[in-house]
Amino acid sequence: MAEETIFGKILSGEIPSQKVYSDAEFYAFRDVNPAAPTHILIVPRKPIPKVTDLTEADAALAGRMLLAANKIAEQEGLTEKGFRYVINCGEWGGQTVFHLHLHILGGRAMAWPPG
Ligand code: 5GP
Repeated sequence: MAEETIFGKILSGEIPSQKVYSDAEFYAFRDVNPAAPTHILIVPRKPIPKVTDLTEADAALAGRMLLAANKIAEQEGLTEKGFRYVINCGEWGGQTVFHLHLHILGGRAMAWPPG
């Protein structure tokens, strides 16, 4: 069992969050320190620490996370202009919370390459 993170506490309701989407498998909420006008985090309820910890058994979950994110992007009006998905992995990837999450960033044009 992975160590409980701040996202574990958000999932259990111990720490409040601004809910955007919820289903049996995922929970999405607004980032407390937004890097774009729209910045949402989608988190699987299963506490997988990093994207590289996904296994074959999680293949459908990983796919459904993208499909749920697409639903959220549509709901948030991001799909027409475009937006960005980000998964930070490990120290050099800039990951600070070790519970897998996908960032949904939109509402402005994104620079490439990222800093
Ligand atoms: P990472 O750097 O791990 O990819 O992303 C973690 C994200 O979680 C950061 O963008 C950070 O602002 C956000 N975050 C950290 N703690 C909290 C919190 O307590 N509530 C919310 N809503 N977001 C948080």
